[in-house]
Amino acid sequence: MLSINKLRKLSFLVYGLGSTGKSVVNFFKRNDIKKFEVWDDKNKDLYKKNRAENLNKAVEIVDFIILSPGISLKNIKGKNNLEKFEEKIITDIDLIFLMKNFFKSIVVTGTNGKSTTSKIISHVLQKNGYKTLLGGNIGKPVLSLKSKKNDFLIIEVSSFQLSHSKYICPDYAILLNISNDHLDWHGNKKNYKNSKFKIFKNQKKNQFSLIGNNFKTEFKKRNLKGKLIIPQLKNYKKFKEKMVLGGAVTIENFLDSVRSKMPELIEILQRFGSPQIRNQGTIGGNLCTSSPIGDLAPLLMVLNSDINVFGKNGIKKTNIKNFFKGYRKNILKKDEIILSIEIPYPNKKNKIFSWKLSKRYDQDISTISLAINIQTQKNIIKEIQMAAGGVAATPKSLDKLCKSMLEKKLDDAIDFATENLDKFIQPISDLRGSSHYRLEAMKGLFRRLQICLRQDKESLSIMEV
Ligand SMILES: Cc1cc2nc3c(=O)[nH]c(=O)nc-3n(C[C@H](O)[C@H](O)[C@H](O)COP(=O)(O)OP(=O)(O)OC[C@H]3O[C@@H](n4cnc5c(N)ncnc54)[C@H](O)[C@@H]3O)c2cc1C
Repeated sequence: MLSINKLRKLSFLVYGLGSTGKSVVNFFKRNDIKKFEVWDDKNKDLYKKNRAENLNKAVEIVDFIILSPGISLKNIKGKNNLEKFEEKIITDIDLIFLMKNFFKSIVVTGTNGKSTTSKIISHVLQKNGYKTLLGGNIGKPVLSLKSKKNDFLIIEVSSFQLSHSKYICPDYAILLNISNDHLDWHGNKKNYKNSKFKIFKNQKKNQFSLIGNNFKTEFKKRNLKGKLIIPQLKNYKKFKEKMVLGGAVTIENFLDSVRSKMPELIEILQRFGSPQIRNQGTIGGNLCTSSPIGDLAPLLMVLNSDINVFGKNGIKKTNIKNFFKGYRKNILKKDEIILSIEIPYPNKKNKIFSWKLSKRYDQDISTISLAINIQTQKNIIKEIQMAAGGVAATPKSLDKLCKSMLEKKLDDAIDFATENLDKFIQPISDLRGSSHYRLEAMKGLFRRLQICLRQDKESLSIMEV
């Protein structure tokens, strides 16, 4: 880290006087850094007093050459000399990091989406009460930003900026993607990739490196020190005992992922909206709207799923039964998201049913729904978990009712449930159905369960009748 006093003792050549070069000169002037010369092939009158008389000599004697992004060594005058002194070439962003002693940095690169990602990060942080400054390739040169202690400095960097960078060392470095681009500038894909990976090069153990799963091997090969984070929001993985789905997995991908291990879930997932909605809507979004008639909650409850919540204090696990707190309310704090959902595979002896009643078969939201995870032996209920939608302010796990049905004969248990249902649920009346309708319809679903178990049916949807 260099103090301003130390910078004052060094000498610089500012090469290229576009907005970045100008911001460097202004920074020098603001901080009384006098030992600098400038060069621009076209703009010969700007900062005339500081213009290098002999470019090749200047390149040789200065401590640092600050090269404008976008200038390719191949195409510029005096290139031979510049190439010879490549180790002196830095960028304006390096200067920020050379002096870094007061801000937190998030640096974003990638072939596509870096401006959008930088903007979203800035927006989300601001909404959560943090002060942010946004600069770099996105428009504002970083040296023109006035950052204060504890501000988040979000810098979008291009491969050009990274290619000459030597001191960049972000607290959070994000590499979004790499596809063939600017290969004429870099010479080949290898050079292009090397410059993108420079974002991680100086990171220490306590700094974070965020990459997609596809860069994991490459990252490890390069022996980088940053703490690796691979966002899992869109991934799903099958383990021996359970399946883990990222919060941003779509309903359609959820449906796809259960085909082999939990085919019983397919029917209810196919009832979800329409193909368009299933391809857009996510598991996290469905749970976070915390609607009492969201289709996933009852199902995930009877499968005893856990939710991994990610926030500033790391990841915490909570059972889905503890997630909902009231009508459209859940336990998430302002700075928390659903990172993933863990679904244990059901016991092979158990049967899973999940039914929804709605006015239309397709493209409609439930009036009521019921999910059941049950095991019977010789007609006696040995295990049962049930959860319902549309019967309370939140999706409701029917634990007490299940307890009363355990170890009972199936027919007796169903009779008990239908006769005493109003003691366990008190649905409201609304546009979709009256309280009376909901109660009676739920009794109907218990009868459907009885028929399915008696006749050893996988399901009994209205479409099969
Ligand atoms: C035509 C239509 C049909 C529908 N049919 C059904 C249906 O059959 N069954 C059903 O249950 N629902 C249905 N829905 C409701 C909706 O589509 C689903 O709830 C969907 O899953 C929402 O997901 P999303 O990703 O779009 O969430 P969004 O609307 O993007 O998000 C909802 C809320 O959750 C927050 N959020 C999203 N993801 C996370 C996360 N990982 N962590 C923290 N917060 C998060 C968002 O910030 C937002 O506040 C339907 C909606 C429409 C418009």
